[in-house]
Amino acid sequence: MRIEPNSYDLVITGGRVIDTANSIDSQLDVAISDGKIAAVETGIEVCTSKRVIDAAGHIVTPGLIDLHTHAAGGIRKPTNDDFMVEPDAAGVSAGVTTVLDAGSVGALNSGGLVNFLAPHAKTRLLALLNIGKMGVANLPEVKSIDDIDEAASIEVIQSAPGIIKGIKARMVTPGIQALGNDMPRTAKRITNEAGGFVMVHVGDIAGQNPIAADLTPELLTGILGEGDVVTHTLSGAVGALLADRSLISQAQEARNSGVYFDVGVGGGNFSFESAKAVLDHGFMPDTISSDITAMSRFAGPVFSLTECMGKIMSLGVSFEDAVRMTTSKPAEILGLTNELGSLSVGSNADISIIDLIQGDFLFHESSGAIGVGSQAVRPVTAIRDGVPQPLDVGPRPWGWLPTQKG
Ligand SMILES: [Zn+2]
Repeated sequence: MRIEPNSYDLVITGGRVIDTANSIDSQLDVAISDGKIAAVETGIEVCTSKRVIDAAGHIVTPGLIDLHTHAAGGIRKPTNDDFMVEPDAAGVSAGVTTVLDAGSVGALNSGGLVNFLAPHAKTRLLALLNIGKMGVANLPEVKSIDDIDEAASIEVIQSAPGIIKGIKARMVTPGIQALGNDMPRTAKRITNEAGGFVMVHVGDIAGQNPIAADLTPELLTGILGEGDVVTHTLSGAVGALLADRSLISQAQEARNSGVYFDVGVGGGNFSFESAKAVLDHGFMPDTISSDITAMSRFAGPVFSLTECMGKIMSLGVSFEDAVRMTTSKPAEILGLTNELGSLSVGSNADISIIDLIQGDFLFHESSGAIGVGSQAVRPVTAIRDGVPQPLDVGPRPWGWLPTQKG
């Protein structure tokens, strides 16, 4: 299929196109019509296109997808004094076209996200409902079974399947003491009935309670199943995937049964030491995500998804893998491979233009430890449904790159 040249709305010329879903990595032009990918070829005729972006020297990928964000900002408090960033701050303003909010809202306060935030954001905003019925407006979100409203959660997912993709549950104090694995079991009951998947946060950052470590093996092999997601794969917190610096065997078992593993860098959910230990076991996460919040966006340690890509690349993950882990793989998890995560003709024209920069970069974790990397990813432009969106100035005084050594 090829749409006639005179109908192109936009042609992006001369970039290095990396489309992992279609095994493409070469210099190509990308044409867009009516918000869809119309052609990916060499030498596309540009003179009749309404708009042309010269991407020579840049990298053109399917629109980056951040599978774990807190991007429901603006619906709880009218100021920036909030836990969550606004969708576009995590999204198009940072070069990212799709963000999945992971549990900022629960069933009883999800209306603002569904009816107002998602339709008005320039970024494609999707969400997982917190299993706690009031989400992070009521931290800790699960103190007892009374904080969960199963019927309302089912109703919300069924009423907005294009936006609400499932349930998020955090295996942290005090919910794990109150409910144990009944919390993720309840999450599974909800998605079994309503559709979507379950994302479980592992690692008890709230209490470091040893119960968390007792619960994780059964969680991984007896509760989660095909299509579900474990987030904080590279965490060193109690109940995450390491025990005595060794990867617990249930992680690979769960992967074999179709469970996905997400990074979710976050405030306290990532350390270089634990990341090295997990990767040394040959256990590569499926997706890189930021877990960005308002607190971390300027103060760190999570500045943007592209900064997180550089952080994970500093551990030896290749740039091409980092692109796959932020494009085709999250699209697969979301069940949206026909629309997102590739540059296949006919799919949504969500595109990220990025730079791969060489240098001596410093990457931060919340403990203060610093990792050193030789590559960083810098956003240039995000294009959603064929429409280029402006970046903002970036999280640091000098813009988007990580701190440089010296
Ligand atoms: Zn999170």
